[in-house]
Amino acid sequence: MPSTSLTTDRLRDIGVVGAGGAGFPTYQKLSSQAEVLILNAAECEPLLHKDKELLVHFATEILEGMLQVAEMVAATRSVVAIKEKYTSLIETLRPLANGRGIEIHLLPDSYPAGDEFITVYEVTGRVIPPGGLPGDVGCLVQNVETILNIQRNVPVTQKYLCVVGDVPNPVTLCVPIGTSYRDVFASCGMDPAKVEHVQVGGVMMGKVMQSLDEVVTRTTGGLLCFPHDHVVARKHTATKQQRDLIGKSACDQCSFCTELCPRYLLGHPVEPHVAMRSLEFNRMGNEPLLGSQFCCECNLCTMYACPEDLFPSFATIDNKRQMRAEGKTHQVTGRTDLPVHSMMEYRKVPVSSLIKKLGLAKYKNVGPLTDFGPLPKEVRIPLQQHIGAPAVACVKVGDSVQVGDPIGRAPEGLGVAVHASIQGTVVQVGDSIHIRA
Ligand code: SF4
Ligand code: SF4
Repeated sequence: MPSTSLTTDRLRDIGVVGAGGAGFPTYQKLSSQAEVLILNAAECEPLLHKDKELLVHFATEILEGMLQVAEMVAATRSVVAIKEKYTSLIETLRPLANGRGIEIHLLPDSYPAGDEFITVYEVTGRVIPPGGLPGDVGCLVQNVETILNIQRNVPVTQKYLCVVGDVPNPVTLCVPIGTSYRDVFASCGMDPAKVEHVQVGGVMMGKVMQSLDEVVTRTTGGLLCFPHDHVVARKHTATKQQRDLIGKSACDQCSFCTELCPRYLLGHPVEPHVAMRSLEFNRMGNEPLLGSQFCCECNLCTMYACPEDLFPSFATIDNKRQMRAEGKTHQVTGRTDLPVHSMMEYRKVPVSSLIKKLGLAKYKNVGPLTDFGPLPKEVRIPLQQHIGAPAVACVKVGDSVQVGDPIGRAPEGLGVAVHASIQGTVVQVGDSIHIRA
């Protein structure tokens, strides 16, 4: 039973952040009211299964967490948004949810159904304005693991993640935060030295692992392994020079990238084929490129849509960063009257097609929740695992800590506290706190 009542201050102190994305502090999200609470169980990245596993094992806790959050934000409607393909899980969930007044909304098995703009549109028919937030249309979207962390109401010291792809046994693990990827792979019975390319977080939106010494944080959703010559590895490791060179010479402006862009289909002014032109004509004028700022970086255009195997998302994201650095913004920000594209329904990309295109069919599309062990001998816990300011270290070298003890207090302004994930002794204090068991 939780020992302390659930408040936004409490959520800040126990370090709850969005577990499925950039790590936005949850206390801040829950400090405004929302009419509709949506549990985002879409998990549309191919090969990831963590949220499904959590719902299989902790359905009651998660639904109770939804009720608590709904009360905090005065939501009048609570909805579990889940892929319709999870039929047996849905059968289990439905009576539990209905008994609590929670709806189940079935999502198509398309990518990116879990982009919160798309999820909100699917569940409510409302379009979040370009540059806006779900709150602009009366919605609050929460990730499955985030809701579980809220319901547990204890310091967040562990992270659920998948280890999948080119691995002997795909699994979902509950890992102490600060554990190195090396230790995660070793716990799966793998030789870390033989691991080749790793996508951290997903084949579409994940980042490339740079070192086995990187550590699990509150936002690490999965470690996806591939041979170096796999298409996923090739796409994500191309250099800017390579991307720009091939883009300049081979883009025929067919605009398939734009025609399948989920944000463009929602009516937002994102046009990756226009961003591609900037590779050739850098000073073509900024106005057509300003829509790049509304790109959600789903990478669908690069990984799926472009028939020439080019990198339109990278061109779009480059433009987005450039615009931001120059302080330029698009005038449509905040508008809610942009029409959804008439072909929106027909241009959803099935995950099965994505799996085929990306050569993922040979990998097992499962990942049962499995015990993690043995515990790491040392963890390195970053003070910044969230959007906002880093936590402020509140331990010193030589201190003994128990699991859940605060090691970084919440900063002034936006940010949350950080806690020890194993019992041991603090051996280093810097941007990360190192604890030796
Ligand atoms: S980037 Fe690819 S999809 Fe987009 S316009 Fe160029 S060739 Fe067509
Ligand atoms: S990454 Fe490509 S498909 Fe996705 S929102 Fe950006 S421009 Fe559109």
